[in-house]
Amino acid sequence: MIVIGVTGGIGSGKSTVSSILEELGAILIDADSISKQVVEPEERAYFEVIKTFGESILNEDKSIDRKKLAEIVFTSDEKKRLLEGIIHKEVIRVIKERIELFHEYGFNGTVVLDVPIPVEDGFLNVVDKVWVVVSEDKKRISRVIKRGGISLEDAQNRINSQLSQEEYMKLADVVLENNGDLLELREKVKNLHSSLMLEVYKNKNLNDGKDE
Ligand code: ATP
Repeated sequence: MIVIGVTGGIGSGKSTVSSILEELGAILIDADSISKQVVEPEERAYFEVIKTFGESILNEDKSIDRKKLAEIVFTSDEKKRLLEGIIHKEVIRVIKERIELFHEYGFNGTVVLDVPIPVEDGFLNVVDKVWVVVSEDKKRISRVIKRGGISLEDAQNRINSQLSQEEYMKLADVVLENNGDLLELREKVKNLHSSLMLEVYKNKNLNDGKDE
């Protein structure tokens, strides 16, 4: 099994790269969707969030009212950090659990782990290769505005609050520039994937040779 960690700033194109890898046969672990799942009713982070912020953040159907929660943490950096800490811890736990499970099942293919924040524990220490997706700021901003739900100011603030693209690139085995169209990106991902498969195949043959 090989685990490719795909990361990069907002709007760089990591989800697009991850879904191209998925089309090429990889299994996707998407940190963003896990962060939503872990606060669903009866999930672990759900109970911890209620314990921390009180039952007033619940909807009538007992699901968490995300808007209310967002309003609470918006007013206090400390509360924001508390919430992020609860969710982050759970996301890491789920990621590690899934990878362990794939190992246990003897899965022999490619796993792609799509994360916005390339932390050491649960990302860098579980991936075999780090692919960093970068793109010009103005392209990232126009893409996320086009995608919807975010203003120019919010997009700029998100970029400023994240690691710089240079910092992301320091972690990279592969830097994927996503400044062209989707066809170009698809071509790049396919080529990188083929090179990686070739590398894995050669290493396997070398190791098999050693065993004989
Ligand atoms: P986020 O961190 O906000 O989730 P992301 O890095 O995962 O962003 P994507 O969701 O992959 O980025 O891309 C952002 C938007 O830009 C999407 O709507 C995607 O379809 C579009 N996009 C990505 N790459 C390209 C490209 N090369 N050409 C045109 N559109 C693109």
